[in-house]
Amino acid sequence: MKAADFDIPFNRAALAGNEQAYMQQALANGQISGDGPFTRRAEAMLEGSLGCRRALLTTSCTHALELAALLLDLEPGDEVIVPAFTFVSTPNAFVLRGARIVFVDVRADTLNLDERQLEALVTPRTRAVVPVHYAGVGCELDVICEVAGRHGLAVVEDNAHGLFGRYRGRPLGTFGVFAAQSFHETKSFTCGEGGALLLNDERHVERAEIVREKGTNRKRFFRGEVDRYTWVDVGSSYVISDLLAAFLVAQLEARDAVQETRARLWRRYETALGDWAAETGAALPVVPEHCDHAYHLFHILLPTAAARAALIDRLRARRILAVFHYLPLNLSDMGLRHGGHAGQCPVTEDVADRLVRLPLYNTLSDSEQDRVIDAVRGAELP
Ligand SMILES: *Cc1c(COP(=O)(O)O)cnc(C)c1O
Repeated sequence: MKAADFDIPFNRAALAGNEQAYMQQALANGQISGDGPFTRRAEAMLEGSLGCRRALLTTSCTHALELAALLLDLEPGDEVIVPAFTFVSTPNAFVLRGARIVFVDVRADTLNLDERQLEALVTPRTRAVVPVHYAGVGCELDVICEVAGRHGLAVVEDNAHGLFGRYRGRPLGTFGVFAAQSFHETKSFTCGEGGALLLNDERHVERAEIVREKGTNRKRFFRGEVDRYTWVDVGSSYVISDLLAAFLVAQLEARDAVQETRARLWRRYETALGDWAAETGAALPVVPEHCDHAYHLFHILLPTAAARAALIDRLRARRILAVFHYLPLNLSDMGLRHGGHAGQCPVTEDVADRLVRLPLYNTLSDSEQDRVIDAVRGAELP
């Protein structure tokens, strides 16, 4: 079935309102390459709302992670600890630097990196750990940062799901030395394709600007700090067009309304499906007391893979698209080459077959959501 075959898609990118006007302004400004006024505005909004030392817009979250990996000066053979339940970009950014990926399993409740298993995986070659705040619920950052601090590891948050979520009151994305954000179409705030690297340590800021700008000190040149710009370090092209930054500014300006809408829809699912979940043995998302989550996803863990298949089929028959999520990375072709094997991450390997995500997007109406809820509650599960 194609997307058009569904009345209720899994995701639909919603305009906040000012996207076109701001893109027109970017055109009128005469600068549609990167680091124009809208890029700076979007970065300032992220810095102001999160309190990170510096935000740098990038072409994607994947590229923000690559930038972080470059800044860490990883060497071949260095090890990076990554949850097995995540998107391929989380490990790939480090694999590109020659690092060896060490998979860690996730917790059965939050599906976040299991912090209790972290320390046992640390070796003299370990350089970094990459917590992914699944669905926008913070990992146990107290423990992760404590273990990382004791062993001299860099914490790089993959915060693609977690923008505006908090852990013990502090914004996700401000715990690691670096954090990567995504503004891909599938995320809560989008410009189609885009991302950001958040920097929480002043010492990395200047070098990050250089590496992001092809290894040149072009930024210093534009600030009038040097009289020409030149090649000073390794680098690549991670700067995003100001046209896309303009789109993103409009999205970020709607932050409160977007998060209120997502929170309301998320809680509606939770309330409406509670009894059904208890009866069928399905598990709704677990959000610890000390986490204010980002309302990025609403996922359900069905008791069996067959039950999940039946639920997806039932929704599909009603023209509603619900989807599963990550396959265990330790069992992927690339994962196997990094020492991944069956049984290594039992929770990941189990939940990957039972998880389904329900439609959740800013323009999902109550009546559409009721259709989803009715279809779920009415499903006959094997
Ligand atoms: C979406 C996503 C990415 C990649 O984001 P892009 O902006 O598409 O590169 C990385 N990690 C996680 C956890 C994601 O969900």
